[in-house]
Amino acid sequence: MRVEKVISSPLDNNAYFLFDEASRQAAVVDPALAGKELLAMSEKFGAKIVYILNTHGHPDSTADDASIRTTTGAKIAIFEVDAPRLEKNARGTRWFLPAPPAPVKADVLLKEGSELKLGDLVITTLHTPGHTEGSACFHVETAGALFTGDTLYAGSCGRTDVQGGSPAKMVFTLRRLKELPAETRVYPGHGPETTIGDETWISDLTYPVV
Ligand SMILES: [Zn+2]
Repeated sequence: MRVEKVISSPLDNNAYFLFDEASRQAAVVDPALAGKELLAMSEKFGAKIVYILNTHGHPDSTADDASIRTTTGAKIAIFEVDAPRLEKNARGTRWFLPAPPAPVKADVLLKEGSELKLGDLVITTLHTPGHTEGSACFHVETAGALFTGDTLYAGSCGRTDVQGGSPAKMVFTLRRLKELPAETRVYPGHGPETTIGDETWISDLTYPVV
């Protein structure tokens, strides 16, 4: 597996382009407004985008879902609980976007343990609520890679004071992720990469008293 990153407006989102080198099948993770750059990568590497993977349904992460699908025919996948957000986003104006995103309907509703394939590469969905109810991480076990969106960052985690957020669920989720192999490489939705082993602070977390 090869992974490339684009840092995108509107909020310095990390958008990822990943592909299986043998089959030349690709996926993008949280495209934000990096559609053009991600399509250029598809050309550059001769890898066809077959999935648009959303770690959650916030408009900053999903803004170019519709345009990439229109150009490539790729399938939009999101954890089933967050799927309604994709349609809802089109109804609100967001200061950080030039225009409300186009309304989109998900093509694939993911569940805990759902598997998507790029050639022989298997991408497994982990339900990781906390930032939103339906946040998910995408685990490529054979490559030791985890795409965490706004769940886990290097040294911190995503906000839990946004709609759908839950501090208690975030603690549960982070403890679960900490059980993955220490060498697992973490590709977050904002900021630099890290590994599960480097995120030692998770072990000291206590549940918030609500
Ligand atoms: Zn978010």
